[in-house]
Amino acid sequence: MTTAPSSLDKIVIVGGGTAGWMTAAALSKFLRAGKTNIELVESEEIGTVGVGEATIPPINTFNGLLGIDENDFISKTQATFKLGIEFTNWAKKGHTYIHPFGDYGQDVEAIKFYQLWLKLRQISQNVPYIDEFCVSAMAARHGKYLAPARDPRQVLSALAYAFHFDATLYARYLRQFAEDRGVIRTEGKVTKVNLRGEDGFIASLDLEGGRTVEGDLFIDCTGFRGLLIEGALETGYEDWTHWLPCDRAVAVPCENAGPPDPFTRSTAHEAGWQWRIPLQHRMGNGHVWSSGFTDEETATTRLMQNLEGKPLADPRHLRFTTGRRRKFWYKNCVAIGLSAGFLEPLESTSIHLIQAGISKLIALFPDKDFAPIEAEEYNRLTAMQFEQIRDFIILHYHATERDDSEFWNYVRTMSIPESLTRKMDLFKSKGRIFRFEDELFGEANWLSVFLGQNVWPRAYDPMVDTLSDEQITQIAGQIHHAIRTTIEKMPSHQDYITRFCAAP
Ligand code: FAD
Repeated sequence: MTTAPSSLDKIVIVGGGTAGWMTAAALSKFLRAGKTNIELVESEEIGTVGVGEATIPPINTFNGLLGIDENDFISKTQATFKLGIEFTNWAKKGHTYIHPFGDYGQDVEAIKFYQLWLKLRQISQNVPYIDEFCVSAMAARHGKYLAPARDPRQVLSALAYAFHFDATLYARYLRQFAEDRGVIRTEGKVTKVNLRGEDGFIASLDLEGGRTVEGDLFIDCTGFRGLLIEGALETGYEDWTHWLPCDRAVAVPCENAGPPDPFTRSTAHEAGWQWRIPLQHRMGNGHVWSSGFTDEETATTRLMQNLEGKPLADPRHLRFTTGRRRKFWYKNCVAIGLSAGFLEPLESTSIHLIQAGISKLIALFPDKDFAPIEAEEYNRLTAMQFEQIRDFIILHYHATERDDSEFWNYVRTMSIPESLTRKMDLFKSKGRIFRFEDELFGEANWLSVFLGQNVWPRAYDPMVDTLSDEQITQIAGQIHHAIRTTIEKMPSHQDYITRFCAAP
């Protein structure tokens, strides 16, 4: 007979960065004001990593589940809309492409639109680049924004978006949300993690000043430290530096030089790359670099030389090791956020991994018995997700023609994971892309980066030959026209923000 679970009495979240407050907000919403208490311990003295300002479209699902009002959230976090990422100097110096959110064109039954476009390039002259068949890419390029249409027949229904926001304001926003729903915040530094003698589970945490915090489930959101999952439980780390050699960053905000663009810019440099994240009140900038190929002074100078406005603070230096925790959930501890691993910020996936960790935790929510199968499944799914994202990021570095520095020579010629080799080979053959098991990045994402990095299929899908040349030309022409006229009618990104969601 099915029996009642032995529900948890107390959850302790350690850390009040983006991970800690996203977790607190979601758990406070979904556990309602039930019998499980939630306490979040954070230390202002230690502080947060303070970066992490670009997101990807699934953030809308998270905000939607919490019931957050979009315009209120945008105005309180100084956010802007993000329609994709512009990559400059990645495939080769002087080359630029956009990795947009949203799909290209419209499939014709089983035939992918981009396959049809590959054939069109053979039968016609001056065929526009694939971007011109993607409404998000074109809106980004023209600095436009309008909320997606709900009617699937409208071109604007294909627009997909995420946000750039101020990380500190986002954590503050979620803190208010969580505290309103009963989460207790404790200011304090954890000095010791106490394990139970019988099974090695975490029993309690000692705080500076003498207080002890007990709990049933402990969520480690302590950032790169991994105070519980590594410091106390020693679960180990899988280091991916050989594939993703960037291990340092220097960040500095600057004044906006004009209205904010609705996209992130990523510019490749000699030994890494630079981000440019436009917010309403300032521009976030940072240079991600590899200590194996350059030094701090050179990287900082490079960043400061490339700012578009007056710096608003001194440069901040950060260190990290790309990779993942060997176990994300161990005994009664779950690591969420940077404590679980870090894949470098290139495709803005870290906040998404927090969200994915929270949703898996809720789907596999434990009781006091902590059935091992639940942790095993959580670890299996999370490891797979880290690996899939890792491959996507490696592609940007590996598929390059750049040979102007030791760094680019290394990443261009390094051996890559077998899973990525298979994906690349499949694409190079006839442009096929398959999304494996809930993979975050789908067909359109891989396509834009493959083509953007100059990886082209040898042939198009033979299924396309079931359509006549006239049909192909007509379908593409109609889509192109519909997107162009839609873009012309959209307001500018700045006008949309001013009208609906400007910060006070
Ligand atoms: P942190 O922000 O470091 O928070 C750790 C918390 O733990 C703090 O509150 C701290 O006080 C607390 N703590 C630690 N030790 C103790 C202790 N002993 N006692 C009490 N409290 C303690 N992600 C994206 O999605 N998009 C991006 O564009 C992006 N860019 C990035 C750029 C860089 C250079 C880096 C390094 C990261 C970037 N990220 C990005 C990742 C993103 O910043 C993080 O995923 C996000 O901020 C979550 O961090 P966190 O909450 O896990 O850790």
